[in-house]
Amino acid sequence: MLKLLAAGSAVAALGGPGVVRAAKLPAFDIRATQECGWNVFLRKGWSTDPKDIGFNYRYLDHLAEAGLNWLLVFWTNAPEFDDAWHKVSERAHSLGIKLGRAIYGFGGGGAETTMAEPNVPAHLLRPSAKGPATAICPNEPEGREWMAGILAKCLEPGIDAIVIEPARETGRNCICEKCRAMRPFEWDAMIINFLAERLVRLKPDVKIMLHLSAVNTDRAAKRVMARELGGLSRSVEAMFAWGIDDEAAVTDWLDANPRFAAFTKLSRVILFPDGKPAAQPIEQRVERLFRWCRLAADRKKTAYSFDWRLFGGREWKGHETEPPTTWTARILPASLALMGAALADPYLDRPGQSELLRSLRPRTEWDLDDPAAFYRGI
Ligand SMILES: [Zn+2]
Repeated sequence: MLKLLAAGSAVAALGGPGVVRAAKLPAFDIRATQECGWNVFLRKGWSTDPKDIGFNYRYLDHLAEAGLNWLLVFWTNAPEFDDAWHKVSERAHSLGIKLGRAIYGFGGGGAETTMAEPNVPAHLLRPSAKGPATAICPNEPEGREWMAGILAKCLEPGIDAIVIEPARETGRNCICEKCRAMRPFEWDAMIINFLAERLVRLKPDVKIMLHLSAVNTDRAAKRVMARELGGLSRSVEAMFAWGIDDEAAVTDWLDANPRFAAFTKLSRVILFPDGKPAAQPIEQRVERLFRWCRLAADRKKTAYSFDWRLFGGREWKGHETEPPTTWTARILPASLALMGAALADPYLDRPGQSELLRSLRPRTEWDLDDPAAFYRGI
């Protein structure tokens, strides 16, 4: 049961121009976390042998316990994941958790870990800035149909949302004459609308989300992005972006477009900035976490996503070359509990946050102080 807080004074003190203030605000409808497949799947390093891809059912139990209701997963569209995906889907839905699967819109010619769709036929591969056979051309009918053809299978195990990451956002877009003749976001919008239309045809109630890059974009650039993407199909709901890692950028992003939603790097920005042991006490870091959630709640955003061990712990600075790992936590990790609490109740005040932390200590795996515990498990 979600708590709705009367938070008049806290709300009135927040937000900038154009912020709609209300005395009572609901929590986010979409309380999501995202990862690349080493949390919900129990995996041995990089292996893609189906024998090495199991199902970490405890992780889903912990998400549900924490109050998160969406899990978005990247890098797991290869057929080796099929069996495990079916198990995940069954369990997730029994717990009230919805699933989103990410696709790379018109990127191919490499492993999924290079932001490519797996198994694209060689004859459809075209050059991108990444190399000679690294893209699919959306201006070629056969390329378009191949890309549309994978959608049914991506939705197959009862998937609730597709997260589209346009290939241009990762520098894997086709650079043929026709593609180059389009403005950057015009190209994105074309492929997003095409895929959205096909997805709705396959599953009318599917949710469509986006994963975009806002790295090194200032306020003006975010507004250009908002304008250029303004014409997207209404079926596209939450647009998440990475690279929005400070409070000014978060505010500019959320203000730029009603569909722009917040995505926050929990570990690398909030808990352990720059991958170092935390310089601030946990109370201060948690205050920031709740404040960012309030920035989104003030603007009536309906979705918020955090990453959690996004690359199986390798996102820890200085540990990028180590093998990814799955953490099968015995009991609920404190970091997950914290995420869920901030998403369900962003207006919890400072004393409430302190009380929350006190209550979590005895009943969670405490991973909020030592980055090794967070990234590698306890
Ligand atoms: Zn092209």
